[in-house]
Amino acid sequence: MEICISEALGYLGAQDAPEDLRRQVKEAAKDLERALRPRYTYQVFPLERLPEGFRLAGTPLLLTGSTAERMLAQCSQAALLACTLGSLFDLRLNALQMRDMPKAVILDACGSAYVESGCGAAEKELAARFPGRYLTDRFSPGYGDLPLALQPEICTALDASRRLGLHVTQSLLLNPVKSVTAVIGLADQPQMARIRGCAFCQLRETCLYRKGGKRCGDGV
Ligand code: SF4
Repeated sequence: MEICISEALGYLGAQDAPEDLRRQVKEAAKDLERALRPRYTYQVFPLERLPEGFRLAGTPLLLTGSTAERMLAQCSQAALLACTLGSLFDLRLNALQMRDMPKAVILDACGSAYVESGCGAAEKELAARFPGRYLTDRFSPGYGDLPLALQPEICTALDASRRLGLHVTQSLLLNPVKSVTAVIGLADQPQMARIRGCAFCQLRETCLYRKGGKRCGDGV
């Protein structure tokens, strides 16, 4: 798992960064990769379609709202995923914030990119375990109208506290700080890359939205 430098620069709002900043980000990324690796866990559940949303069978989790409706419309299963850099990252970040704030900002951006790369690795592993199934883009509580209040139930369903040391604060934030939970739908037919965009889409060769100059993620 590697940190995508462009993504880290994106978190810094500096895609066209001067060479010196790019070099600093590369160095911070290499240091971080040497220090720790993202850890993840995921589990696949059958989906039960109810009038009020999608129930993940065997759990109390109900995915409500139009985002879940759009993303999971063709799915018979959904994976829950949790990924974290762990508390070691928080310790490094806190220590750096005390002595060098500009470097801490760079480390923070690298951490965000690193946890995303952990999610990407988990997603690849999931796809390999379910050949012939098509994955939706992953989407997280707080994205669209998927309630942030689902965080505790997702962590409980994944036993993420025991497996990853992941906790949900009273304000529904994840702790350690560089942690992500997400939902990924599994379907029998190719899925639109509604979040990642056309470059990643299984349907891009035949897509009628694109031919009409539109995007599926634009509410069409
Ligand atoms: S607009 Fe078409 S090609 Fe682009 S992500 Fe949506 S379905 Fe895929």
